[in-house]
Amino acid sequence: MTTRDSTVNPDIFKAYDVRGVYGKDLTEEAVYRIGRAAALYLNVPEIAVCRDMRVSSPQLVAAAIKGITDQGVNVIDCGLTTTDELYFIVGYFNYQAGIMITASHNPKQYNGIKFCRAQAYPISLDTGLADIRDLAIQGNFPETAHKGSVTHRDATDDYIKHALTYIDVSKIRPLKVVVDASNGMAGMVMPRVFEHLPAHLYPLYFELDGTFPNHSPSPIEPENLVALQQKVLEVGADFGAAFDGDADRMFPVDEKARLDDPVQSDPLQERTRADREGRGQSHSHACRAFLYQSRDAQG
Ligand SMILES: [Zn+2]
Repeated sequence: MTTRDSTVNPDIFKAYDVRGVYGKDLTEEAVYRIGRAAALYLNVPEIAVCRDMRVSSPQLVAAAIKGITDQGVNVIDCGLTTTDELYFIVGYFNYQAGIMITASHNPKQYNGIKFCRAQAYPISLDTGLADIRDLAIQGNFPETAHKGSVTHRDATDDYIKHALTYIDVSKIRPLKVVVDASNGMAGMVMPRVFEHLPAHLYPLYFELDGTFPNHSPSPIEPENLVALQQKVLEVGADFGAAFDGDADRMFPVDEKARLDDPVQSDPLQERTRADREGRGQSHSHACRAFLYQSRDAQG
């Protein structure tokens, strides 16, 4: 099979998502086709669409939305969110599928797409992404009688309200917490979470800026934790947390700025927990930092 003439490079389809360099192998045309292929393959009435703050995300989300609606599927445009919020939206509002334009923790020249089905089941190469890839590469999309519509929904208030149900705010003592958002999506969510908490927040790099002027949004690299660690020691914080670009990975440090086990948002794990606790649909964390680090404080 030759893909030389294709506008969709098969190499951008990774095990769990689509990822590539914007303008090189991840173009508007490629994302249009992937959006259209996803709509055709998923065969659902509507798809929730989210994006992160990367410089190329507005163009790419527009291309994805055009592809989906040209294939006759409606779009719920949820705007800027964390990846975690995408999973929440799909579960909470019972949408049949969701996609997010994001390249997670990758450098600024990258962008990508994550996909999930109803109840936030992720779509990987083994569970549908290979089919979407093949349809996108072929590009033989059947014409539809009508185009899908686009409606807008800002679900961040619902998301934060839901996240707060995971903890008992009345049992949290007044903590001093440093958060490094890496100029990523945690910068949008964290101030709104902390409004509800009896904690003092020391924000680092909360401005949404896809050029990542302070450090790469990849806290797994030790050099990207240095600013957080210094701030924790400087202000005598109880703990600190660094988030990756789409805020689905959190790297906590203790009061001595020592790295603790990272926490990753995992819709499957959250669903299992939700089922066990009788909470119904899938969702994940926004203030997991508090769940995680304030257990002692909660006693
Ligand atoms: Zn991520």
